[in-house]
Amino acid sequence: MDISLDSIKGIGPARLRAFQAAGISSVRDLVMFLPKDYRDLSSFTPLSEVHPGDVVTVHVRVAGEPSQRRARKLVITKVYVTDDTETMAVVWYNQPWLKEQLSPGRELLLCGKCEVRGASLQLTSPVIEREAGLLPVYRNIPGIPAKSLRQSVEAALKACEGQWPDELPEAVRRRHGLCERNFAMRNAHFPDSREALEAARRRIAFEELLLYQVALSLHRGRNEPGAQVAFADDEIDAFWRSLPFAPTGAQRKVLAEIAGDMRGPYAMARMVQGDVGSGKTAVAFGAMFLAWKGGYQSALMAPTEVLARQHYEGAKALLEPLGMKLGLLTGSLTPKQHKLAHEAIAAGEWDAVIGTHALITEGVEYRNLGLAVTDEQHRFGVRQRSNLGFKGDAPNVLVMSATPIPRTLSLILYGDLDISVIDELPPGRKPVRTRIVPEEKRKDMYGFLRSEVRKGRQIYVVCPLVEESEAVDARPAEQVYEDLRTRDLPDLRVELVHGRMKPADKDAVLAKFHAGEADVLVSTTVIEVGVNVPNASVMVIENAERFGLAQLHQLRGRVGRGSDEAWCFLMAEPNERLRFLCSTTDGFKIAQKDMELRGPGDLFGTRQSGTITYGVGTMAGDTQLLKEVHDEARALLKTPASPDTETILRLAESAYLQKFRSTPAN
Ligand code: ADP
Ligand code: MG
Repeated sequence: MDISLDSIKGIGPARLRAFQAAGISSVRDLVMFLPKDYRDLSSFTPLSEVHPGDVVTVHVRVAGEPSQRRARKLVITKVYVTDDTETMAVVWYNQPWLKEQLSPGRELLLCGKCEVRGASLQLTSPVIEREAGLLPVYRNIPGIPAKSLRQSVEAALKACEGQWPDELPEAVRRRHGLCERNFAMRNAHFPDSREALEAARRRIAFEELLLYQVALSLHRGRNEPGAQVAFADDEIDAFWRSLPFAPTGAQRKVLAEIAGDMRGPYAMARMVQGDVGSGKTAVAFGAMFLAWKGGYQSALMAPTEVLARQHYEGAKALLEPLGMKLGLLTGSLTPKQHKLAHEAIAAGEWDAVIGTHALITEGVEYRNLGLAVTDEQHRFGVRQRSNLGFKGDAPNVLVMSATPIPRTLSLILYGDLDISVIDELPPGRKPVRTRIVPEEKRKDMYGFLRSEVRKGRQIYVVCPLVEESEAVDARPAEQVYEDLRTRDLPDLRVELVHGRMKPADKDAVLAKFHAGEADVLVSTTVIEVGVNVPNASVMVIENAERFGLAQLHQLRGRVGRGSDEAWCFLMAEPNERLRFLCSTTDGFKIAQKDMELRGPGDLFGTRQSGTITYGVGTMAGDTQLLKEVHDEARALLKTPASPDTETILRLAESAYLQKFRSTPAN
């Protein structure tokens, strides 16, 4: 299946480059570039029910002769249309050729935005659609207009017809009622009906999840011998007694599970899930302490420099008094410091090392690594997960995640991991008071922010990421930053951090906020990563309606860590979802509600699912399907000699296993 992309009609050198820049370099890639959504052109809005600001599809008739005039450099084409409920003006700019097509009486399917013009409504520059049905909406590819993209996909599908045999064994397809591949691909892009689309999605998701899970099981076969860590039972209690607080029952339970794994002859592969603020760090430190008691080194990897530093400081305060020697290894050390760190690790001078990616990307040689911990696992993506790329003799592996994931989905995403849940928050934690703030209350809120800063508190302002292609009225971080700095809160120290900044600059700003040298931190969602600034007690979330509930919940978990009253302000018009968030602080309930209301895609940041975005995005809420995938994977792996299993293994190998294996330093 390597038909080259430029053999497709309409794809010249420029488009080819645009596709390649988006990671699409073959016809196959293009066919696998599945829509992120569908626009339903079969359900029309009556003109009488169109409101300003709506993006609508209307089925209308041209009601008069079109007019055309020039205004400066614009050619304005205008025509009135009707659907018998109402008459409305439609206007296009600089598309003079349209006039020819707008003969009175002609029926049109228009899709566009409704605006107020003077006292009446008009549709502005709507797209004229040819046929009704479900129209695919793709992620924007810079340099390729939506319509051309659709045509290219259509041509790619044609080119594939009959060339891309269905490799999923027929028995598997039959067992699970899955449709055939060509049908699935065609209908995933251009559905004949809702039912056909459902069948297509099911088929594609099933295959993706199945291959992923099989690859995962192969990659990290269970029951691998691992570092066997021996320590006395009372060391666990000794650790808990050394903390400045009493552990929760859930923390005790989870550390006991970890201790059991580490003692056993097989390498631990365990994920600890716990809501933000549930105290995962203490559990990780406990595991590191036990590893040390058993004579092994441990490593803790955090997704950012700031978080690594923070863990390092925390671990030092807690573990060094107990006799451990700790070290820090991040990308920003000087070459000399790097060299010293590597030596200290190799010589076993450091009992535990805390750091960033540098822990695995620099080919660090450990003396005897017995435990590898990754914090905020979902930030790393699937590829770096499985053995974390740590060198050494099959260390025990512990990953920490704040994302509550329904069990059925965990089984697939983390099929290779045992799961422990910290389902209890430390006592005395004040729930973050969450309020919806409509636009007219914005000024009052700024007054409140000011008074909080006067009390010595700090404030996060979080903005959604905005895809330029989307015509949404979201306030991008830079704009919000400028407004706050120059207009709304000029008397406060405001800083900005966003994902397009260089990592070093980003970390510098975060460090500044951490040190209390800024009052307000405006950011895109980068702060979602578990930075702990106990002094930050207020969070403002702009365009809160654009976030998933689970994500909002994670975000607000960044405040309320100190003893102060904590607040979260959701800038949005009130709706059911946001009201639900105001009413509860239970992360699992929120995740469940999110899936019910918005579909599963939002439960995960885009990075969460790594390579299996489609299956997770479309089917994560389908418990039945997930169970079928899981059972099928197990059944296949139990009969390794069968031809069907061999086929699946081969497919899994080429789809995922190669990727897992190309983990750096592995
Ligand atoms: P997360 O699970 O989000 O990583 P952390 O480990 O950062 O949470 O813990 C959040 C805060 O709660 C920290 O300041 C930590 O010291 C504190 N903490 C953890 N466990 C307890 C406990 N059992 N009692 C009181 N405070 C605790
Ligand atoms: Mg944490």
